[in-house]
Amino acid sequence: MPQWSQLAARAKPGPRTQLVLQRAAQLGSLFRLVIFLKALLGLYRHVYAYGITGTSRQIYGALKNVFVRIMLRMPSARAQIAKELAKTRAELSSKIAPKTLPPGVELEDVNELPESGRNIEWLRNEWTNMAKLDRGDLEAGRVSGAVYHGGDDLNVVINEAMSNFIVSNPLHPDVFPGVRRMEAELVSMVLKLFHGENGAGTTTSGGTESILMSCKAHRDWARAVKGVSAPEMVIPSTAHAAFWKASQYFGIKLHVVPVNPRTRKADVKKMTRFINPNTIMLVGSAPNFPDGIVDPIEDLAALARKYKTGLHVDCCLGSFIISFAQRAGYSDGLPKFDFSVPGVTAISCDTHKYGFCPKGSSIIMYNSPEMRRYQYYVMTDWAGGVYASPSMAGSRPGSIIAGAWAVLNTYGVDGYTLSAKDIIGAARHFKLQLQNRFQDDLFVIGDPLLSVVAFGSDSLNIYAVGDRMSKKGWHLNPLNSPAGLHMAFTKLSAASVDQLLDDLGECIAAEKKEPESGGNLVALYGVGQTAVGPHVVGKVAEMFLDTLYEV
Ligand SMILES: *Cc1c(COP(=O)(O)O)cnc(C)c1O
Repeated sequence: MPQWSQLAARAKPGPRTQLVLQRAAQLGSLFRLVIFLKALLGLYRHVYAYGITGTSRQIYGALKNVFVRIMLRMPSARAQIAKELAKTRAELSSKIAPKTLPPGVELEDVNELPESGRNIEWLRNEWTNMAKLDRGDLEAGRVSGAVYHGGDDLNVVINEAMSNFIVSNPLHPDVFPGVRRMEAELVSMVLKLFHGENGAGTTTSGGTESILMSCKAHRDWARAVKGVSAPEMVIPSTAHAAFWKASQYFGIKLHVVPVNPRTRKADVKKMTRFINPNTIMLVGSAPNFPDGIVDPIEDLAALARKYKTGLHVDCCLGSFIISFAQRAGYSDGLPKFDFSVPGVTAISCDTHKYGFCPKGSSIIMYNSPEMRRYQYYVMTDWAGGVYASPSMAGSRPGSIIAGAWAVLNTYGVDGYTLSAKDIIGAARHFKLQLQNRFQDDLFVIGDPLLSVVAFGSDSLNIYAVGDRMSKKGWHLNPLNSPAGLHMAFTKLSAASVDQLLDDLGECIAAEKKEPESGGNLVALYGVGQTAVGPHVVGKVAEMFLDTLYEV
């Protein structure tokens, strides 16, 4: 320790000081040893979880990224990519925010506040014209997901409910006691559906906020109860993107574990290897978004109990489909998925999906009121007074709570049972037809049991089939790894399943006869197909978001 000895020589310390300095030096070495051991432990856990091959692949990936970044700095590459991106930007703009209006549509540009206010006639005229911008060929009955009900009678109910509570804000329960009551009842109704009689929950603005809140609650729970300061979570690769978002927003290290390639279910054995004392939660979906498969929730719960971690069950999509599957007579093959399984600590349920509520409505539930408390934000010494809010937002729209409360009351158990019957019935019919009629050209991904059916192809470019379907007015979701398409059946599309099958048959025949080539930049650089792929696709996605705000 030269610094210490120099210091000691200059100071000519007495024996007492010398002893103190010696101790300090020893403490310093001990500190470095602890840091070294911690790093070693981290490395050990990493190699244990990912294996030697997995770790080598990650190192290779990181090196490749460095290489790509250097390559992208080279003037020739930069110019080439800039040219491609500019072309894509123009394409995106003309597609999403076109500068010229289609014939017959007349709209004024409103890029700044009008000098004097407009009257209702002016607004109505603009709305009529804006409605003409919607793709006429995209009837809601031909869209995967997106529009979940579409009943005109229900829209009347929602409009009236929302307009009655248009100014209300649950941030002020003393001013709006009616909305407070409806919010509490809404949460209670959904909790009961998921066997959460002893649990607690809150409303949120959607599935993403529900998931963000759950991750935050589990992080703070693990910090308070288990002393975890470097939180980690373990999720199957089919979990919703919101978990990646939560990991980034809240500084939670994420372990993504590939699902079983055949069943597409979470690989519980593999997930076990990623659990360590920093693990705050595991995740299972019931069902997942990409292929509609339900993870083995009971096995995941056993794992969560064994290692004393949380388990979030994502029923955002499952919502009022999985919770009514049994009543609808479709529970065969489904595992238990709700709070009746000990070890499940949180469930997210999107009332704005198969609950048919207005958009901006979801419920996050916990197995206990204590767990819910870790979601809260409380500030006692704010200049504006004591501040407490249950979720991300401060002020919240009471109108959406009123709309959701009205819809649940309108439907009731029998209404949702009937809609689950229709929707699951259509999805089962679709699955069977894919497996029989189209078995030579398509394969169904996993064995979907609820409302979403995903399929791929060994012989055809499945995205080209999707393009052809799009020209026929259908909107199917394109999927990554494996390449595929999915259909999330809704009340509207359930009625047109046979038309969907016929059109799919025509598109497959056409594609076989004359395969489509080309495609846009994303298809060209497809994620993972080239080294610069992910970089370019990321840039295109950012440009897409920029385009949304073009006036
Ligand atoms: C839709 C969905 C979400 C997220 O919901 P948003 O309301 O879009 O934020 C989360 N998980 C699954 C499985 C979903 O399908």
